[in-house]
Amino acid sequence: MSKLYINGRWSASETGREFNSYNPANGSLLDSVADGNREDTANAIHAAEEAFKKWSVVPAIQRSDYLMACYDSMIKNQDLLAEMITREQGKPLKEAINEVGYAASFFRWYAEEARRIYGETLPSNAADKRIVISRQPVGVVAAITPWNFPLAMITRKIAPALAAGCTVVVKPAEQTPLNAVTLFKVLEECNLPPGVINLITTSQPRDVGEELLHNPAVKKITFTGSTDVGKYLTKEASNQMKRVSMELGGHAPFIVFDDADIEDAVNGVIASKFRNAGQTCVCANRIYVQESIMDEFISLFAEKVNAFSVGEGFKSEVDIGPLIDKDAIQKSKNHIEDALNKGAKLITGGKQINGEGNFFEPTILLDVAEDMYICQEETFGPVAPILTFKTENEVIERANNVPYGLAAYFYTNDYSRSIRVSEKLEYGIIGLNDAIPAVAQAPFGGMKESGVGREGGKEGLLDFLETKYISMKFKNECEQ
Ligand code: ADP
Repeated sequence: MSKLYINGRWSASETGREFNSYNPANGSLLDSVADGNREDTANAIHAAEEAFKKWSVVPAIQRSDYLMACYDSMIKNQDLLAEMITREQGKPLKEAINEVGYAASFFRWYAEEARRIYGETLPSNAADKRIVISRQPVGVVAAITPWNFPLAMITRKIAPALAAGCTVVVKPAEQTPLNAVTLFKVLEECNLPPGVINLITTSQPRDVGEELLHNPAVKKITFTGSTDVGKYLTKEASNQMKRVSMELGGHAPFIVFDDADIEDAVNGVIASKFRNAGQTCVCANRIYVQESIMDEFISLFAEKVNAFSVGEGFKSEVDIGPLIDKDAIQKSKNHIEDALNKGAKLITGGKQINGEGNFFEPTILLDVAEDMYICQEETFGPVAPILTFKTENEVIERANNVPYGLAAYFYTNDYSRSIRVSEKLEYGIIGLNDAIPAVAQAPFGGMKESGVGREGGKEGLLDFLETKYISMKFKNECEQ
């Protein structure tokens, strides 16, 4: 059985309860995991609170060394970590290896940034006053993470938190607890002081969440997941005015203009739509193709999608692994059925693949319209809905006409259009002829209902810091 990690020690839950983690490719049992509850969470918060007193005053250069050690340890254990991703989350091993590299890169970047938490001095209004601005860690942070990037969504939060001087309690998703446990075992090699990072695995997110939300020692909630849960956490966190960072759902438009390099655009759509079997919050959800290039685009796209191999992620030829669970399969089915009922055309795919595991055919739908569910909710599956458009102004208006604002992509070779469209799209992340924009040094996050705050880059560090203003009055003439 895998255990909880509290105050530098592995322990069972206070209740002794456990839950199971399964492989989505074949339904087999992977291991049982300690089922943390409120009391365990309170213990972890207490450990983090005690550790904060010392960690927050560790010199930046030493915090930086610890973070660099975390990076090295992840890279050294890349295979172990990647295999656990594929086993428990399902993505193909080559994608899992990429995730480990991406996840580790946050430790490296924030190891470097830990030493650049600068303050400021401002001109005062009086000769006998000085104004100093300094930055201090917010305190104990609760990190609630999803299953689709079971390592990267943890490191993207804890690396900047630790760099800032915060301590952390992590609550991973119930579908991928063993990934979090494996990561913590790898990080244990780095001898972080006890209590700096703590892990509560649980099958009862609401219970654990209540403690994280109501315990006054927690000063910030950082969350990646659905918009509904994000709104609930934000409301509850406001009772104590806890800081929040929310990375929520998206509904990314992917626009292909008629002046684009079509093959490049097709490859981009494929990378964006089918990575992780379409289970990413930044994946293309509405693919807008300009009318005059539709035939050429569709034939190339369908040819490439038909060549995909779907299967268990450890097989080297596999491009698309299983979906996370039966609900995910059902959602893809519902979206396809609704779209077909409302007039969409099926170009390829459309069904669950028979047999064990949660496999779904990569699917292309044509003649999709905005009144279909698929254009309103995230599908989180390998289903590519294609819409046509005539003009630039029209497509911008349609692309913006959703409550979400996480990522948007467009392909064009027109310089002026590149600037116009980048500025008009109401999205936090724009991929201009680039389908995979996320990197550690850039601020990742959404506008509108896709969230608040940014992760990555210097903005990602500021979100774990309080700004303090010290107004200093002094005798500016010496008495002699
Ligand atoms: P998804 O639909 O992708 O599973 P969720 O928003 O349900 O997204 O889950 C993301 C994370 O939020 C997971 O770690 C999950 O356990 C957690 N979570 C879900 N509901 C709550 C809640 N009420 N309180 C705290 N955490 C929650």
